[in-house]
Amino acid sequence: MEHFDLILKNGTVVTSSQERADIGCRNGRIVAIGNLDRAEATEVIDCTGLHVLPGVIDPHVHLREPGDASVETIHDGTKGAILGGVTAVFDMPNTAESVVSKEVLDRKRAMIPGKSWCDIGLYVGATKKNIETLDTLEVQDNVCAIKVFAGSSTGDLLVEDDASLEALMRNGTRRVCYHSEDETRLQERKKLFSVGQPYRMHMEWRDVECAFLGTRRLMSLARKTGRKTHILHVSTAEELAYMRDFKDIGTVEVLVNHLTQVGPDVYDRLGGYAIMNPPIRDQRHYDASWAAVNAGDVDCIGSDHAPHSREAKERPWPLTSAGLTGVQTLVPIMLDHVNAGRLPLERMVSLMSAGPARVYGAVGKGHIAPGYDADFTIVDLAHRRTIEESWITSPCGWTPFAGTSCTGWPVMTVIRGQTVMREDEIIGSPRGAVVSFS
Ligand SMILES: [Zn+2]
Repeated sequence: MEHFDLILKNGTVVTSSQERADIGCRNGRIVAIGNLDRAEATEVIDCTGLHVLPGVIDPHVHLREPGDASVETIHDGTKGAILGGVTAVFDMPNTAESVVSKEVLDRKRAMIPGKSWCDIGLYVGATKKNIETLDTLEVQDNVCAIKVFAGSSTGDLLVEDDASLEALMRNGTRRVCYHSEDETRLQERKKLFSVGQPYRMHMEWRDVECAFLGTRRLMSLARKTGRKTHILHVSTAEELAYMRDFKDIGTVEVLVNHLTQVGPDVYDRLGGYAIMNPPIRDQRHYDASWAAVNAGDVDCIGSDHAPHSREAKERPWPLTSAGLTGVQTLVPIMLDHVNAGRLPLERMVSLMSAGPARVYGAVGKGHIAPGYDADFTIVDLAHRRTIEESWITSPCGWTPFAGTSCTGWPVMTVIRGQTVMREDEIIGSPRGAVVSFS
C-alpha cells in the first residue's frame, strides 16, 4: 500500500479546471492527485465540501521589519497571512533599513527563520547609488525582484529620471517591478492643494495622468531596452488598455482594493483609512479593472499590505500616511467577489497562485501538480463571515474592510505539507521559509 505523509481527501481541486480528487503529499511536496482510497497516510484531512486551491501568494506586502514593531512585524503580518489563507508573501524593501545591498539582504533573510508563519520572497530596492550592483543583487538567493519607486517615495529609494531608469533597465535580465506614478507631476500638483481639504482630494491630486504618464515613460524605456517589466498596482482604465500592447515584455498587477472600493464615496466613508497610492479611483476605473481581469489583461492580484499607526492614518489630508492593511483580508474579499459572480474561481487561482509564481519565477509554487510544494489554500465557498478588526493580527489593529461580510472563507492553510491554520486556529510554531526564484 502506498504511504503518504498527508492526504487531502475528497476536496474539489481547483487548477485551470475543477475536479473532485484526493491529493497525496510526501516530504512537503505533492506526489499524487486522483483517487487515493487504497493509499494510507500519517495524516488525512477530510476536504469534503471544500475547494482546494494552490497556495495563494500575496506578491506585494510591506512587513515593515526592521521598523516600528507597534505597527507591523514579520511575525504578526505573516500570522495574518496564514489566518487569511495566504501561503507565501513577497516583502517590499522600504523598511527602516532599506534592502538595497547584499549586506542588508543577508540581515533581512536572517530575520525570517523562527519568526515567519508563511514562506517569504524578498524584494531589493533600486537607488540611484546601487544601479551598478543590481545585476548582482537580482540573482541573490530568495530575491523575487528588483523594486523601483519611479514616484511616490522618500529618500534613497526614488529613481525617477529617464537616464537612471534606462541605466537600471540595462543592468540585469530579470523582470523589474515598478511603482509608476510620475514623480514630477505628483510634486507639481501637490502645490494645488492645502492641508485639511477632504480626503477625496487624494484622487484629484494623484490623478489619472500621474499614473498613466509614469507607465508610458516606463514602458517606452522598457521597449527601448527590451527589459521585462512588471507594473505594480495598475489603477486606471488608460494604463490597462495601454499595457495590452506590451504583453511580450510587460505584466500587470491589480490590487484587491481597486477591485473592491470606489471613490469618491470610500473617502467620505473611511477618511484616512481610504488613503493609498495609487489612489482608489472612481467607478470608471473600477469597471475597467474588472473588465481587464476577465479579459486576461491582468497577471497578478495583490494586497499592497502597508500598515501604519492609527495616528498616522487619522492626520488631516494630505499629511495622512498612505497605505492600507490587506494581507489577511485578501482571500476572503476575493472569494466574496467569486461568490458575487465577478470572476470564476479558476481565474482567481490563475491570478493569485499561478500568476505570481510565473511572473516572479517562484520555484515549486503556484500549482497543484506532482513535484510542486504542498502549499494549499483550502476554502469553504459557502461560509459567511464578517471581517472584524479584532481578527486582524497586525499590531496597528485596523482594516479598511471592517464590517464587510464575505461569502467564502479560507478554512485551512497548508504550507509544504504542514497544516499551519485550521478554522482560525494557528497550529505549531513559525516554520515559514524563504522562497527560491529562477
Ligand atoms: Zn506597496
